[in-house]
Order: sequence, then C-alpha cells, then structure tokens
Amino acid sequence: MLNINKNFKKLPGAYLFSTVARLAEEYQKAHPERELIKMSIGDVTRPIAPSVVRAMETAAHEMGTAEGFRGYGPEQGYEFLRSAIIKNDYISRGIELDTSEVFVSDGAKSDCGNIGDIFGIDNIVAVCDPVYPVYVDTNAMAGRAGDYKEGRWSRLVYMPCTAETGFLPELPKTSVDIIYLCFPNNPTGAAATRVQLKKWVDYAKDCGAVILYDSAYEAFITDPDIPHSIYEIDGAKECAIEFRSFSKTAGFTGMRCAYTIVPHELKCDGAELNALWNRRQCTKFNGVPYVIQRAAEAVYSPDGQRETRAAIEYYLENAKIIRTALSAAGLSVCGGENAPYIWAKAPKNMGSWDFFNEILNKTGVVTTPGAGFGPSGEGYIRLTAFSTREHTQKAMELLGNIL
Ligand code: PLP
Repeated sequence: MLNINKNFKKLPGAYLFSTVARLAEEYQKAHPERELIKMSIGDVTRPIAPSVVRAMETAAHEMGTAEGFRGYGPEQGYEFLRSAIIKNDYISRGIELDTSEVFVSDGAKSDCGNIGDIFGIDNIVAVCDPVYPVYVDTNAMAGRAGDYKEGRWSRLVYMPCTAETGFLPELPKTSVDIIYLCFPNNPTGAAATRVQLKKWVDYAKDCGAVILYDSAYEAFITDPDIPHSIYEIDGAKECAIEFRSFSKTAGFTGMRCAYTIVPHELKCDGAELNALWNRRQCTKFNGVPYVIQRAAEAVYSPDGQRETRAAIEYYLENAKIIRTALSAAGLSVCGGENAPYIWAKAPKNMGSWDFFNEILNKTGVVTTPGAGFGPSGEGYIRLTAFSTREHTQKAMELLGNIL
C-alpha cells in the first residue's frame, strides 16, 4: 500500500508568499480601478545587463553549430565559471579555494534545501527567528523539525533576532548540530560584522556543528566591516558551507544560476562533506545550462561588473527611499543599508497581518507580514527594494499619507 511522506502533512497551510499573492489578487478583484504596488516578494525588476545578454546570444549560437554543441555538462558546473567565481569572489578577498570546492547550481533555494540530504535526520537544527522559510520547511519535510504547534516546530532551536538583540542571533544555549545563518539577512536586512561572525565560527568549531551560510545578498554590502564571505573569518573552512546566487547579484531570478562552496577541510564522521555533496549532486542533478553558465561568467567581465553594479546601486537607492520615508513616518526600521530588505515595526503594537491588511486596503501597497517568517516576526512587516523607482516612490508617498 502506497504511503506518503507524512512530514508533508505536518506543514502548516500555504507557503507565505502564496498567501500574500492570494490576498493581493483578492484586493485587485475587489478594486479593479486601483493600482496594486508590490513591495513584497523579493524578485528583481531591472533587466539583464547587455553584456550578459550578448554572452547568452553567443553561447546560444555556439549550441547551434556542430563544433560548439554541448550536451550534458559537468554536474558541478563548467570549469570556466568555477574559475571565474574563485578569481572574482574569493581570491579578490584573500580567500583561496580549489575549483573542486565550487558547485554551480540552479539556485541557492535548491541548495539550501537539498543540502539536508547529506546530514542525518536526528541532527538538531538552529534557525534565526524570523527566518527565510526555506530552511525551516525543507527540514520539516525531511523530518528533522518535529511537530508544528502554535507557530513553532518542536525540534527546531529558534534564535530570536529582535530589536533587543540588534536583529542578530545570540549563540544557542542548548547544543545544536546545524546552524543556518543568512547575512545580509532576509527578512530583517541586518548584517553581521567580522567580529560577530567570528563568534559563530569559534562556537561551531568548539561544538562540532556546521554553519550553513547563505550570502545570497552579499552584493548589497556597503559597510567595509561586514564580510562578504564567511571564509573571511579564520577557521570557517573547517565548519561552514556557503551559498551564493546570481539571482539578486545580477538579476538572474528567471535564469537560475547559483553556487555552493563546500571546502575540503570540512569533515564529519570521518567523511569530507565535499565528497558527500558531490555524490549527491552527481546523482540528483544534471547541471546548469551551458548558455546560462556563459551568462554568469559574463557577470565578471568589466562591462558585466559595471552594468550589474548599476542595478545594485539602483536597488540600494530604493532601499534608502524606503528607510527614509518609513523613519520620517515614525516607524522603527532595520535593514536597507547593506541589504535590499527593510524590516519595519508596525505602529501602536499592531500585529503583522493587521498592519499588512491595513496598508493593502488603504493604499494598494503589498508588503510581507513579518509573522510569516517566524514567531519573532510578529509585529513587523518586510518591504523590498526590488521594485521600480516609480513604484517605490509612489508606495512611500501612499504610506506616508496613512501613517
Ligand atoms: N536565500 C535567500 C536568503 C533568499 O532570500 C533567496 C531568495 O529570495 C534565495 C536564497 C533564493 O535564491 P535563488 O534564486 O538562487 O534560488
């Protein structure tokens, strides 16, 4: 008799962003004359850089010739892209890596979720609260999170990131095995300095835990004290896996290309995690399209760097507009300086969903309720800087009127 994975039955309702999308759609149906302004989902709006498009065109033409055609590529990614990643994202910051430590993939979302395949089910997982829901839900699907009761998973260790902690997690008081960290953070926009991150690396090494470090938003860092990679911290190669993505760095959300670093120094139970991840990828993944990998390589060309940097600056300017407008309206805000997210406290102790609904119904602006990111997100909303300049300005004007 067929069985399903019973862990799926434990998952609460719909994925946060589907619920937000449904409510926005209902609002639009009820008010077809009003404009809906989405400041909610973290998707980019700037087009792909011209030099990246040219690289894709060249690669597409190559694929149409007998000499240039390529079938299945290496599961770990083409050498040309892995080398470009090391040269531009790591050697430039004093970090040495071997190409065998770089795994090109179709997304940091997939990698953050799939990485669980190489870890035992009985490991204790620690997550920031609030948190990018993928870390929680993928562990719940695997059976590592326990049961869901009153908004919390019984086997997860929640690390509250609140105004009192400066929106950064504190070291867990109980023993944990897998620690998800994400800086600059989604959803709070907070970022950890080198000194703060060193504390985590020392802790993980002391207790034999692994840090799963998601730096999907490193391109938004403006403060020189904030590290772009966890490997800028001594000892991190022995305890951390790093996830990066071209999605927000170069507008690749619809193109799908990311990479994960698994250093050879990282060992557990006498096994190199690099070998396990390689085995996992070779079995379950057949690589990113050649055309897309050539596009990602072009991000590192001088033109690619200039053009993609211009898009990041555009989003950072949006972030500044949001921060300034919300602060002027009297809200407490975090983020928006080294991150494309702004985390704002609802006024008058309102709940997240109430504040979300009030903004939507009075202005047509769609935000994301903080409570959807975890218990400590209650009372907050998240806004993203990925909208167009026009929409960002209009949304802030509308919010200013009602706040
Ligand atoms: N990691 C974080 C923290 C994110 O916020 C997102 C997307 O919103 C991702 C990963 C997904 O990245 P990708 O598009 O590479 O799957």
